Amino acid sequence: MTVFGTNTRVDLPVDEIPKFWYNIVPDLPEPCPPPLNPITKAPAGLEDLWFFPKGLIMQEVSTERFIQIPDEVREIFIKMSRPTPLFRAKRLEDHLKTPAEIYYKYEGISPLGSHKGNTAIAQAFYNKREGVERLCTETGAGQWGTALALACAFFDMKCTVFMTRASHDQKPYRRTLMELYGAEVHASPSTNTEFGRKLRAEMPNHPGSLGVAISEAIETVKNDPHSKYSLGSVTNFVLLHQTVIGQEARKQMELIDKKPDYVIGCVGGGSNYAGLCYPFIYDKLNKKCDAEFICVEPKAVPSFTRGVYTYDYGDTAGMTPLFPMYTVGHNFVTPPIHAGGLRYHGKAPTMSVLVKNKRITPVAVGQREVFDAGRMFAQCEGIVPAPESAHAICTVIDLARQCKERNEKKILLFNLSGHGLLDLGGYGEYLDGRLVNNSEPKELSLNDLPYNARI
Ligand SMILES: *Cc1c(COP(=O)(O)O)cnc(C)c1O
Repeated sequence: MTVFGTNTRVDLPVDEIPKFWYNIVPDLPEPCPPPLNPITKAPAGLEDLWFFPKGLIMQEVSTERFIQIPDEVREIFIKMSRPTPLFRAKRLEDHLKTPAEIYYKYEGISPLGSHKGNTAIAQAFYNKREGVERLCTETGAGQWGTALALACAFFDMKCTVFMTRASHDQKPYRRTLMELYGAEVHASPSTNTEFGRKLRAEMPNHPGSLGVAISEAIETVKNDPHSKYSLGSVTNFVLLHQTVIGQEARKQMELIDKKPDYVIGCVGGGSNYAGLCYPFIYDKLNKKCDAEFICVEPKAVPSFTRGVYTYDYGDTAGMTPLFPMYTVGHNFVTPPIHAGGLRYHGKAPTMSVLVKNKRITPVAVGQREVFDAGRMFAQCEGIVPAPESAHAICTVIDLARQCKERNEKKILLFNLSGHGLLDLGGYGEYLDGRLVNNSEPKELSLNDLPYNARI
């Protein structure tokens, strides 16, 4: 029996919002090396992570598999449209004439337009509990700054955002949105920090980068005892906060009696993809799932596919501890592709372990094919995907075409991490034929790594 709409959209009631976050650390195929103090090279202690509140540091170093989600956070998740819907991309399947079934978890339904609220709310909660009055952060495309601005408004804290100048000038609406939620926004490099002033003196038109903006945010926190720093990806605590996505998706797939053969997502630092795939990796370990895992990065910033697995700084100025990760080098100048959320030199340490052990397969795609995929998806499914998310769609379309050639009825599941309604500038360039394909960089920036121990 089929019921109208069955398999096309699967929703969960609000009391199915997950009660625990899943921490993959105890289930990794080999231990994740600890972050290091950049001077002594000893494992980083609490004092090396001084810019985070204790509650989050405890999660960062936790080896507990399940961590309870505070009720205050779950309550706000309802405002963030959790549980988010799972859709079947039936019209895309028909367009591709593929026997594959394509499902996506839609995180763009949040008022923030992306998955970033899942961790922003949690981080604001723990900071507020410890009496922090202001959070400082970086933002590239603007999704993270927007999410933290709203989270701070909900918890009655101030918010200062350093936005990479390239995005700041390309996307004025993002700034307005952050300010509307109550944040103070500076184009980075700014004149507010010593590091920013130094870079501007050297290069007045510096386009900024996530690494630079992180350095500015951390310097600001260093000079204000009532502030802490907040990060939108990469760290263990961010990745575990995002696992609400995959836990919901697992239940939704169960409701329609489907198991994914492929779980796909785009990777900047790795948080939205970890959020979707880690619960399924857990199921695979427990023999309840047999999926393959594929993550998609831009050819312009190829940390997983061309970078090295080593220790590197999380920022450009070298103010953070050293993190064990795949990196293109903290001094790599990331080309100004439109997927600003993917312009980061490193990758999450836990995901780096999984890639190194071949539990997750990385692929890289070019900017033009990404926008082709984004347009096809918009025309078939109605949702304009964020350029970041369109990386995942690009690979999904490839796989669906392979399924057609081989006549295989595989089940594909991907994370639609956000919508692209504030990225129409990029889509406009694409439609006008002004989009550059940002070909692969000839060289990475691997000659000035801080610590040349290959892991
Ligand atoms: C920030 C962002 C990303 C990339 O960051 P991850 O930590 O890898 O998820 C991807 N998609 C959207 C919509 C984003 O805002």
